[in-house]
Amino acid sequence: MTDLPTSSGPVVVAIDGPAGSGKSSVSKQAARRLGYGYLDTGAAYRALAWHALAHGADTSDASSVIDAAGDFDYAISLDPDHYWVRVGDTDVTDAIREPRVTEAVSGVARVPVIRESVTALFRSLVAGSDRPGVVVEGRDITTVVAPDAPVRILLTAAPEVRAARRSSELTTQDAASVAAALHRRDASDSQVVDFLTAAPGVVVVDSTDLDFPQTVDAVLDVVRSAITEQTEEGAS
Ligand code: C5P
Repeated sequence: MTDLPTSSGPVVVAIDGPAGSGKSSVSKQAARRLGYGYLDTGAAYRALAWHALAHGADTSDASSVIDAAGDFDYAISLDPDHYWVRVGDTDVTDAIREPRVTEAVSGVARVPVIRESVTALFRSLVAGSDRPGVVVEGRDITTVVAPDAPVRILLTAAPEVRAARRSSELTTQDAASVAAALHRRDASDSQVVDFLTAAPGVVVVDSTDLDFPQTVDAVLDVVRSAITEQTEEGAS
């Protein structure tokens, strides 16, 4: 467990990156190794897209999305060993990964008022965690949700490696259509948030030539050195 003396709630390890960078699985495993919580922020946008689709909303239309968000009752687990996502009484952990939801999510995530309320929700989920820290992963964590986090990482990988990883996860679709969908979503998402270049002070971890355990170790190295630095600064 890595503890940083703090009076302002759990330590945030902010990890941003595009789809297929390994962000979710790496963040979850890093959280386990640190004894921290794990917050998947993309799940909130996905769950809202799922909810909007269930209401027959047009997810490309901001006002339709905002209407659907009116009765959005969302809950997520921050336990990396027991991950679930719920909307009302429905467990949507698997449903939010369906291609139809993935296709719709960028439309939902593009709406500024939705981003503001979801950002506030993320901050309160982190503040309410009883763990010493939370690994928070997404697209705008290092820049918008937690720009003051003591650890901020951009996890990247070459586009062809990301597409190959995603298509090995999605066995129901052929590789070419998975790659096309991934690039389409990146293009759409990057109009809203720049998650392909690191903001000042953000450490880049490039996983192109790393396997999963190596990527987790690289992330943990960044966490440990940032926290050692902060502890030394605090002591001097
Ligand atoms: O990370 P994941 O692929 O599950 O994210 C789903 C979608 O949620 C992204 O394509 C993006 O549109 C949106 N998102 C976002 N900001 C975040 C996390 C996700 O806009 N912090």
